[in-house]
Amino acid sequence: MEFETLCLHADNNESDEWGTLTVPICQSATFVHKGVNVPSEYSYSRLSNPTRRHLERTVAALEGGADAYAFSSGMTAITVSMMLFGPGDHVIASDDLYGGALRLFRQVCACNGIDFDFVDTSDLEAVKKAVRPNTKLIYLETPSNPLMHVTDIGEIVKIAHGIGALVYVDNTFLTPYFQRPLELGADVVLHSGTKYLGGHNDTLAGFAVASTKELAEKILFYSKTIGGQLAPFDAFLIERGIKTLPLRMDRINENAGSIAEFLRNEKKIGKVYYVGLEDFKGYDIMKKQARGFGGMISVEVESKELAEKILAGVKVFRFAESLGGVDSLITYPMLQTHADVPEEERNRRGINDRFLRISVGIENVNDLIEDLRQAING
Ligand SMILES: *Cc1c(COP(=O)(O)O)cnc(C)c1O
Repeated sequence: MEFETLCLHADNNESDEWGTLTVPICQSATFVHKGVNVPSEYSYSRLSNPTRRHLERTVAALEGGADAYAFSSGMTAITVSMMLFGPGDHVIASDDLYGGALRLFRQVCACNGIDFDFVDTSDLEAVKKAVRPNTKLIYLETPSNPLMHVTDIGEIVKIAHGIGALVYVDNTFLTPYFQRPLELGADVVLHSGTKYLGGHNDTLAGFAVASTKELAEKILFYSKTIGGQLAPFDAFLIERGIKTLPLRMDRINENAGSIAEFLRNEKKIGKVYYVGLEDFKGYDIMKKQARGFGGMISVEVESKELAEKILAGVKVFRFAESLGGVDSLITYPMLQTHADVPEEERNRRGINDRFLRISVGIENVNDLIEDLRQAING
């Protein structure tokens, strides 16, 4: 089946006696055993739940993984997947990551004895230089948040597998519709399902998708031990979102391309960070490893005053954290997603008081462009 069809029929629900078309919300914490020593698929919802399982099978199919697990948030998925590493292990991670992942690595995992090196993973030489005998994982986002660094997943896989390390890719920004890291050799794909997979800014969710049964079992062990699984109702909502993922992503991709072009021609807008611009660094790698560019655009505007004016002046775009939904949003990373990154480091990387991040939604593109125009120039 092709991707669009998988979004609806990857795991057709044929197991219940009512013949429900839509998977029912199975709001049961526990399941009745058929007898002593009679095996049953479900026993307790922390281990597995029919509604969640249906969603997990769908996401595993979309990413081409051996199995997937759904969590109560993207951060839970990342945290549980990081349990595979412990004291004495070394991890190479992108230096441009979702702020919450950086906080987890620096303020939790590092305290628990994992060593980290943060490098620009789009620079393969820098990655090679960071390798140590105890390197067990290379962790990346591509495009990265919020600077849109593009990392060549296949090349990173070569480096990692050459030294017996794993590769984790946070695929939140592109979704499997545009990019499938496991097909490029990555070992685990992570998602904030809160973003494009759910797509409606109404549910928190996260996923870990493993390339092999063996890795999936390791993640499942930590998942059932720690907890934090996605609730049945939330699984139902994310499943519903996924049915329209390709339609939304196509529209978002198209809107974002037009908005990036518009921004590029605005005098008061400095650098436009959009991986779909032909002269953007990493464009060629995007063309090679992804089928679309997504809806995330960052810009550096002419002054702090203009950044604040835009945030106050937009009427269609909303000034809010998060991304990936049907509604277009603008974020001020310095004060929101990346507030916990030390100021000196933020400034060095360019996440300053003139830096804004846009998540393009599915509104009419003319309304979106007009809204930005009046907010910038009005
Ligand atoms: C939002 C986000 C996360 C964290 O996901 P939550 O669902 O908010 O916990 C992780 N990675 C990326 C790239 C994100 O955008």
